[in-house]
Amino acid sequence: MSVEEDVMRIQKKLTKMASGDGGQEQALELLKTLQNLPVNLEILTKTRIGMTVNALRKSSSDDEVISLSKTLIKNWKKFLGGSNMGKDGATPPSSSKKPKLKEESKKEDDKKEKDKPKQTSFPPVSTTDAVRLKCRELLLTALKTDMQDQDGLGAAEELAEELEEAIYQQFNNTDSKYKNRIRSRVANLRDTKNPQLRLNFLGGAITAQRLAIMTAEEMASDEMKALRNKFVKESIDDAQLATVQGTKTDLLKCAKCKKRNCTYNQVQTRSADEPMTTFVLCNECGNRWKFC
Ligand SMILES: [Zn+2]
Repeated sequence: MSVEEDVMRIQKKLTKMASGDGGQEQALELLKTLQNLPVNLEILTKTRIGMTVNALRKSSSDDEVISLSKTLIKNWKKFLGGSNMGKDGATPPSSSKKPKLKEESKKEDDKKEKDKPKQTSFPPVSTTDAVRLKCRELLLTALKTDMQDQDGLGAAEELAEELEEAIYQQFNNTDSKYKNRIRSRVANLRDTKNPQLRLNFLGGAITAQRLAIMTAEEMASDEMKALRNKFVKESIDDAQLATVQGTKTDLLKCAKCKKRNCTYNQVQTRSADEPMTTFVLCNECGNRWKFC
């Protein structure tokens, strides 16, 4: 079997796990196998395994799975960084698996394809441009405003990079327009009077691509608040749909229609030592709610 086929076989299983279809017990083993495969830029581009691993990382509650996923993505990003040297003036990494240059343009094309619409974009390429690195740092600092736990730090780093990348794509240089755009995002993200923008971005309700082009009015609007509420509600719905059928019960009473015909699911939403969240669906009126 070729490396590409191996990767695709693993990808198939990981995609299932990331979508909540079946357990993630095997995830760590599969990631370890991936780590040992001689994955190169061509395979990364063809299979888009990076997106799969990234989706798994986001859906997983297993610390080991999350950490190994991050390591894999970090390693793969180095390849992509090498292929991006034309733009950034960076030197390619001296790796035996150095990609062929003709893959460079192909990668850009593949990025635009939308054959996997539900997944986030591939993690942004690394850069050695001092201005861009500084801007990523500024964005990250803004994202860390009020951050309570260090858990979200890795995600914030990645989002800061994604956002900087998206802004850079707008201008293709780091002149004053680029800097102004960065500055206004930083100011709005760290604005304690407008935490919604930051939370929406960290939570995924606003993509980096969207935030990169938002106007000052859009960033500061009440819409941000409404969007956040809607997004939280949708996440709850998604979490319910992702689980298997659920259990019917007449013990729970719907607050809306007062009937006792509900289906509930229990989901481990965060770490294993935190209590399960129970998602309830009223079979009579479709009302949904959750409790811990
Ligand atoms: Zn009801």
